[in-house]
Amino acid sequence: MPTKKPKLKAARSKKAPKLVAAANPAKSSALGRPSKLRGTNPERVRQILEKLDEAYPEVTCALEHRNPFELLIATILSAQCTDVRVNIVTKTLFAKYKSPTDFAHANPAELENEIRSTGFFRNKTKSIIGAAQKLLKDFGGEVPRTMEELLTVPGAARKTANVVLGTAYKIASGVVVDTHVQRLSQRLDLTEHEDPKKIEQDLIRIIPQDKWILFSHQLIWHGRRVCVARTPRCAECNLERLCYAADKTVGWKLPTRKTPAGR
Ligand code: SF4
Repeated sequence: MPTKKPKLKAARSKKAPKLVAAANPAKSSALGRPSKLRGTNPERVRQILEKLDEAYPEVTCALEHRNPFELLIATILSAQCTDVRVNIVTKTLFAKYKSPTDFAHANPAELENEIRSTGFFRNKTKSIIGAAQKLLKDFGGEVPRTMEELLTVPGAARKTANVVLGTAYKIASGVVVDTHVQRLSQRLDLTEHEDPKKIEQDLIRIIPQDKWILFSHQLIWHGRRVCVARTPRCAECNLERLCYAADKTVGWKLPTRKTPAGR
């Protein structure tokens, strides 16, 4: 793709001089973003969904699991940890602990050692044993299928519950907002919030419910592969024409086109 960087930079900085001053994309809402988001008009959202479908037609959760219970445990382990690391740990873990009963009776010190490399291993051990005991006590050893019930399970906050319901049961209870979804929703001007719960509410309002599950997986994959945290690869991004982010920040590789479609 041909690039004319110096010319483009000049054109962008003329158009949006105030926004270029934003050094941290995550904080850009406080640095000149219009109070009413431009990014949420239905036609633009439809185009974003279309582009994501083109790039990621069949993506799903990267956490390896064989059943809803294993997904619950893997999701608890994934807090502040990469999916790659979790998959390495669970490969051994799920060979030893095969059911909620096994985890409910686990020796905490042993389990701590087994999951140590995922970080926060003491809290995660408490959550995992507590979750297994809760499932045995109140849900017949099954992972429940409602948000309300899942939120009573130790270690399962709203994000975890959305992951389990969406991926294991195909129930669109909400949109998973992890660090990637949070960052991309902000860069794409789909939200101006920082709080994941508020971001989820914004996304729920503008994304059709039958897209909630796939949309979050797509943003997560896009965040890992292209729209990475420090230096997003805008020139390789198929959302480039629709994205407002690059002209609000410094230090990024700027998109190669001047004007996002529908702007
Ligand atoms: S154009 Fe750049 S900032 Fe926008 S979504 Fe793509 S990679 Fe992210």
